[in-house]
Amino acid sequence: MTDTHYDVVIVGAGHGGAQTAIALRQNGFVGTIAVIGAEPDLPYERPPLSKEYLAAKKGFERILIRPASFWNDRHISMHLGCAIEKVDPAQRLVFLADGRSMGYGDLVWCAGGNARRLDCTGHDLGGVHYVRTRADTDALAAELPSVSKVVIIGGGYIGLEAAAVMAKFGKDVTLVEALDRVLARVAGEPLSRFFEEKHRSEGVDVRLGTKVECLVGEDGRVTHVELDDGDPIPADLVIVGIGISPAIAPLVAAGAEASNGLLVDASGRTSIPHIYALGDCAAHVNSFAPNDTPIRLESVQNANDQAVVVARTICGRGCEYDAVPWFWSNQYDVRLQTIGLSAGYDQTCVRGDPATGSFTVVYARKGRVIALDCVNATKDYVQGKRLVEVKATIVAGMTDPQLPLKSFAMESAA
Ligand code: FAD
Repeated sequence: MTDTHYDVVIVGAGHGGAQTAIALRQNGFVGTIAVIGAEPDLPYERPPLSKEYLAAKKGFERILIRPASFWNDRHISMHLGCAIEKVDPAQRLVFLADGRSMGYGDLVWCAGGNARRLDCTGHDLGGVHYVRTRADTDALAAELPSVSKVVIIGGGYIGLEAAAVMAKFGKDVTLVEALDRVLARVAGEPLSRFFEEKHRSEGVDVRLGTKVECLVGEDGRVTHVELDDGDPIPADLVIVGIGISPAIAPLVAAGAEASNGLLVDASGRTSIPHIYALGDCAAHVNSFAPNDTPIRLESVQNANDQAVVVARTICGRGCEYDAVPWFWSNQYDVRLQTIGLSAGYDQTCVRGDPATGSFTVVYARKGRVIALDCVNATKDYVQGKRLVEVKATIVAGMTDPQLPLKSFAMESAA
């Protein structure tokens, strides 16, 4: 016996889950829709958690994806604060942690990912924080008034953004990155060096090529971070930003094909009939990637655009995902905007002078533009999209910021 049945059950009330429900209604879907979210909150924007919300510049109401009335008005049934633990594809049932079950016509899995945890000694001490959910950021923010020394572990976007906010709060900040440059997995060296310099100029002690050995504490609370080189770093609070692992266990247990994420086709279908997946937890073949190996993209653009594709597919409007990836990050007075995927690049050129605080890194593979990182250079970002779309030939003139990027869009691949 099921407690209820919905034509579409959406698992995950984050960016992808919210957008799936919105897009279903926008595409004329009149069936019943349930959104089930493990977090207690209505869908909210996740990026501000390490930016304006952490900096206390925006309250929670301002980061809601839609006001509460929106979901009621569209007859979208929200079931919050309860995770799906099990899926039975044969019976088309989902089982919630509180013992309820629900039947579905189609199931859309948008459960995102869980922050990867430290596993070294001391990982469970008080004062060690992650930034994935509103509750994480609230818990971190609550401790800030009583701490002065903050150590950030991980030089990816979340670590850097948190470092910027902590530095602006006047904390004594150390950022530890295991690789020899920040953002090494997602960007080229000119961008990494720019951000390292920027953080150092704001007072952050950036330590590269060094690993955390363990966390040391007193009375159950962290006091130091020990590295594999040098002296222990004093820490009243530690923020860990070392990536996520996709939240896919119930579907993998149900037999869905997965590697680093649930494998989906261009319409978001998993290997199990009537089950779709999208966003951070889904691995798809992306035409802007260097090869056909399925990849996961962790961005709002990807979650939203895949949600629209899945919604249209459920509505029988045949649709395939082929959007140009884009991404942004804010740190201090720097706005980074990225278009395309730089993975697999074999050539870069820098447009403008990083010392001015405004420049663009153009990435190419086999002579063709594949991505741009635009730092305080919105015009380049807007015009660069076309270069990525047409796979424009990279030419020396692109380094001249006086020449608009759109003038190179004609140099496209045959
Ligand atoms: P999410 O938005 O994470 O939503 C998944 C939801 O599913 C979560 O609420 C989770 O609790 C819930 N869930 C998990 N398991 C279950 C279950 N079994 N049952 C029910 N519910 C479940 N992207 C950008 O493009 N730009 C940025 O500047 C940027 N900054 C970021 C800053 C931070 C701090 C973080 C954490 C992410 C940032 N991202 C950014 C990434 C972006 O937020 C994600 O790519 C996006 O949220 C992915 O959407 P999603 O729907 O796949 O997952």
